[in-house]
Amino acid sequence: MRNVFKRPILSGRPTVAEIDLEALAFNYRQIRKRVPKRTGILAVVKADAYGHGALPISHKLEELGAEYLGVAISQEGVELRRGGVKAPILILGGIFPEEEEEVIRNDLTPVIFEMDSLVRLSKIAGRKRKKIKVHLKVDTGLGRLGVPFDQFPVFLKELKKVRNIEIEGILSHFSMTDREEAYSSSQWKKFQEVLAIAREAGLKSRYFHMANSANLTFFTQYSGNMVRPGIMLYGSYPSPKIEKLINLKPVLTLKTRIHFLKSVPAGTRISYGGTFSTRRESLIATLPVGYADGYSTFLSNQGEVLIRGRRAPVVGRVCMDLIMVDVTDIPGASKGDEVILIGRQGRERITADEIARKIGSISYEVLCLIGKRVPRVYR
Ligand SMILES: *Cc1c(COP(=O)(O)O)cnc(C)c1O
Repeated sequence: MRNVFKRPILSGRPTVAEIDLEALAFNYRQIRKRVPKRTGILAVVKADAYGHGALPISHKLEELGAEYLGVAISQEGVELRRGGVKAPILILGGIFPEEEEEVIRNDLTPVIFEMDSLVRLSKIAGRKRKKIKVHLKVDTGLGRLGVPFDQFPVFLKELKKVRNIEIEGILSHFSMTDREEAYSSSQWKKFQEVLAIAREAGLKSRYFHMANSANLTFFTQYSGNMVRPGIMLYGSYPSPKIEKLINLKPVLTLKTRIHFLKSVPAGTRISYGGTFSTRRESLIATLPVGYADGYSTFLSNQGEVLIRGRRAPVVGRVCMDLIMVDVTDIPGASKGDEVILIGRQGRERITADEIARKIGSISYEVLCLIGKRVPRVYR
């Protein structure tokens, strides 16, 4: 049977996400400079590298020397292995029993926080006559995944009975980004206790890690011997305060072109529901991008785009595949003009953060929302 999926169907649609791998390298080096010399970097590439395309981003990070890569789910790890990624890969979100064999076969390292899961892995390891590496997660105050802090000593005792497992790392995760430093330091103290208890029990782990982007910037003392930056690799800040502390370059530019242009009289309704009506004779541009591409409906009558170095407002509702913008005040606006939705044009710039503020979200989500029908183009 002919494989109909083999050849990609090329689209002439000009809506693309340009990914600047040099900006990624710049951000990586900025982070490198901030953490102590012998501290490893576990580069987080979950959720398709925050929408940037997991495979090309991971290959670049390997080339830059990242010690580890982090994904959320095992499927993401398997995809990286199939794409030829050789670096160690940690599955941050843990794994399900159905995934254990595949995880081992693909040499992925799971994060573990339950004894029955360790027991099952130990059996698999025995059958395969090899040691299986895992990282042990302890909950020091996020309340999400991990052995609860006060149950850790008991967990350790049971752990002693489990054969063929190497605890390569011990980790926890911070809850706060910039407020309530006291809470972060209490979490860090608990983590230190965890490590002390583990040491006393004779557990020698190569890595101990806790800091994400926010905490490795704000609190370098929380580095452990590995840090786990995600969002900052992609040039966004986990909190506005951090902008002053570290200089980063946005990696992604979301762009398109003017698809259709029309001059309309005052009083013309634009888009579904007629939520916008022109107040003057207007030049309205239609752009081939919509919420199916990740441009949120919350940007209806709220968003702005860049054309010829100036801001043009989104008018009317965002549709699934199209939006309209008012270009009356942009001299010379023409069909085919480049339009920046996220990124820089001339001296103007629209960041994922700006969009996040408008829609009551965070840059992480804005980037992850960019749809899979938007081709990622690498520079
Ligand atoms: C997503 C994630 C990170 C990265 O967080 P950023 O805020 O993007 O730096 C680190 N550790 C864990 C466990 C995560 O889930």
